[in-house]
Amino acid sequence: MKYIGAHVSAAGGVFNAPKNAYDIGANAFALFTKNQRRWEAKALDENTIRKFKAACMRYKIDTKNILPHDSYLINLGHPEEEALQKSRLAFLDEMQRCEQLGLSLLNFHPGSHLKKITEQDCLKRIAESINLALQQTTSVCAVIENTAGQGTNLGYRFEHLATIIEKIDDKQRVGVCIDTCHTFVSGYDLRGANATEATFKAYSDIVGFEYLRAMHINDSKVPFASRVDRHAPLGAGEIGWGCFEFLMKDPRFDGIPLILETTDETLWPTEIKRLKQWSNDD
Ligand SMILES: [Zn+2]
Ligand SMILES: [Zn+2]
Repeated sequence: MKYIGAHVSAAGGVFNAPKNAYDIGANAFALFTKNQRRWEAKALDENTIRKFKAACMRYKIDTKNILPHDSYLINLGHPEEEALQKSRLAFLDEMQRCEQLGLSLLNFHPGSHLKKITEQDCLKRIAESINLALQQTTSVCAVIENTAGQGTNLGYRFEHLATIIEKIDDKQRVGVCIDTCHTFVSGYDLRGANATEATFKAYSDIVGFEYLRAMHINDSKVPFASRVDRHAPLGAGEIGWGCFEFLMKDPRFDGIPLILETTDETLWPTEIKRLKQWSNDD
């Protein structure tokens, strides 16, 4: 079974997100559990948590198919001690918010070296940050997203993901989210079924499907291997429908949230409908 949704708005409260997902025909969704451009957030109160859980039930969205995304401010590989501590605290807060809401996944970008430390040192810091957060929580899985490799962001090679995972103490609680746009612009071809198959063969050999906990389904506005992060509606970018048809027909992508982060929200219902037709679920 394919679980397909989009990164929906949680404006007015996290409990509004499940209806926003339902309204576009989704059976999965992503959200921010706090303002993603601020460090501070009000703690989740009992009423908010209760309303969120009730809305997930009402709109029949299983919490295992909900993929919260952390704040863009967090850099778990920050080269400077004070900033690293600030990021680690904020990340722990994000993990705890997920547990309070009964969610099992937290999606995040690995981190940036800011040209002050080596890639290897930065990957090591990122792994330490994840280990620290896992020690202080009980169940939520840390889901590392591959990146476009813009600026000094790491995570643009499958090897980066494998290196981080290798250093994680509790392998049950670390996973990966593969973003198709990021994959393509970082230099793994996805144009057509053959290229997509080869790219996921590389993923399988280097990281492994046992770690695949989610996908971001996006087309790319910018060319192959450009290392620039610009999403496009499905079929309207450089990747094209062939990749998405391949993913929908492949059972290795069953049972995990498949999330659109495409740029035109008005197209989400039709994008989801088209993806579902290939999935062969009813
Ligand atoms: Zn992301
Ligand atoms: Zn993404």
